[in-house]
Amino acid sequence: MRRLALLLASACLAPAAQAATILPLDRATILAGSPFDLKVEFDKVVTPEAAVTINGRPAAEVLGKEAVFIEKEPGVEASAIRIDAGAITAPGVYTVEAKAGDETRTVSWEVYGTPETPAAKNVIFMVADGLSMADRTAARLMSKGMTEGKANGRLNLDDLQYAAMIGTSSTNSMATDSANTASAYMSGHKTAINALGVYADRTEDSQDDPRVELISEALARTGGKAIGIVTTAELQDATPAATVAHTRKRADKAAIAAMIFERQPDVLLGGGSAYFLPQSTPGSKRKDDENLVQQFQDAGYALATDAAGLEAAAGSNSGRILGLFHTGNMDVALDRMFLKKGSVDTFPDQPGLVRMTEVALGQLAKDPEGFFAVIEAASVDKQKHTLDWERAMIDMIEFDQAVGVARKFVAEHPDTLLVVTGDHTHGNALIGSIDPARGAGRESVGVYADAGFLGYEDANDDGYPDALDVAPRIAMFSNNFPDHYETWGPKLDGPFEPAVQNGNKDYVANEAYRDVPGAVLREGNLPKSADTGVHAVDDILLQASGAGAERFHGYMEQSDVYRVIAEILALAPSKPSN
Ligand SMILES: [Zn+2]
Repeated sequence: MRRLALLLASACLAPAAQAATILPLDRATILAGSPFDLKVEFDKVVTPEAAVTINGRPAAEVLGKEAVFIEKEPGVEASAIRIDAGAITAPGVYTVEAKAGDETRTVSWEVYGTPETPAAKNVIFMVADGLSMADRTAARLMSKGMTEGKANGRLNLDDLQYAAMIGTSSTNSMATDSANTASAYMSGHKTAINALGVYADRTEDSQDDPRVELISEALARTGGKAIGIVTTAELQDATPAATVAHTRKRADKAAIAAMIFERQPDVLLGGGSAYFLPQSTPGSKRKDDENLVQQFQDAGYALATDAAGLEAAAGSNSGRILGLFHTGNMDVALDRMFLKKGSVDTFPDQPGLVRMTEVALGQLAKDPEGFFAVIEAASVDKQKHTLDWERAMIDMIEFDQAVGVARKFVAEHPDTLLVVTGDHTHGNALIGSIDPARGAGRESVGVYADAGFLGYEDANDDGYPDALDVAPRIAMFSNNFPDHYETWGPKLDGPFEPAVQNGNKDYVANEAYRDVPGAVLREGNLPKSADTGVHAVDDILLQASGAGAERFHGYMEQSDVYRVIAEILALAPSKPSN
């Protein structure tokens, strides 16, 4: 006890402890010349004499914008200083210091320049959301087969030249969601879970958080390239939205749809029309009369609402295309192409990711300045959340075919960089095979020598297995799950809904699967608030091919990926020395 008292006494003699928060955070890496908002959050109400300096000079002077002192932030009994949309043009290390009374905080930023000459004209950035290592393996086995331990064919993914391991943690947690990683990819700044294009501040308002520049803005600022966004999710879902959106809350979907219109990417293909249509339209999820579809059309976009419409728009040479093929997330490949389950009855003519990729690249390639395209297979993640392995893997095969389209484009346009990655992993692994001939329930699982090989066939050579209820089939499991019934088989009647909410708002096993022959109740190993499996913290693999691809290597934070792209596109050319 005496020793603790001594320690406390000596702590009081030490310089004032780090108090306030400075955003961007310590060790931020910032593209030279890119505008960003600086915010200092003091821990208490301080006097306007509070100051923030950068390398000893007033921050406002360095950033070229006015500093605004906020005595009391809304809902917070504490002061803040903001300097919005300032920029630092000279690369180097910058020490930022905030001081108010005995409160001080010091952080360091690295401002980086880029080469003068771009290494690539076009960038195709492909994301299979939630991409774990097991997904590649299972897709290869299901699509190509295996004989005596050697794959009978290769995925398009298998021949990308360079690779890096990517850490996906967020600023407020080692775990991540799609928003944080996509935002880091598209801005070079990590952020908090659920945030896009901002550092998460402490005030309630989700739209006032300090912003960082996004790739679409950097490209507009530095001369302009076409922008394309393709996804099988809603266009305002986290990954596609990260290209254009600034919000603390990825769930601000109506606001994000408006941000998409503000930025006006040249090609937009995906779902999510519910947030583009006014509340009077059936299926709309807007709470106002804003008609963004009309606004896009007025701005000269060709509108496509189904696969046929996409073909018409692609052929019309209209320049810009808005494809909205579903009110929500598009149906997965398994339902869309094969089973006709999910919501395919309502949206019978949705295009697939492969054709959307072809149309987008064809359209974007018309821009003489080049383009930046984000292409996302969203449901690899969404179907793994619901432990629906076959749906996830068929979407994985579809993603790989879209990668094939991109590889062909790169072969024809060598001034193109292709990046293929995920945004986080899931806790799923392929551990063997399931074959009812071995027994019922868990006895049907074969591991090690009993796993043998899988029973899928692809007689029509479309890359997809001809049937999924084969034996042996994949034994893929998640290491985390809510209460659910394990049915040991593919969900051919429609997408799996493992858990449903009970009267106490806990998620419990969905009784709809109780009577499936052999079904076993699995007690969840996650809190009862979890309705699905969750993301893993594991690193993800990033692969790259084409112009500049060799710059991806080793371990990188997901925020470093942006820096490499900025370098490859020469977004902050150093001034020639004289
Ligand atoms: Zn997810």
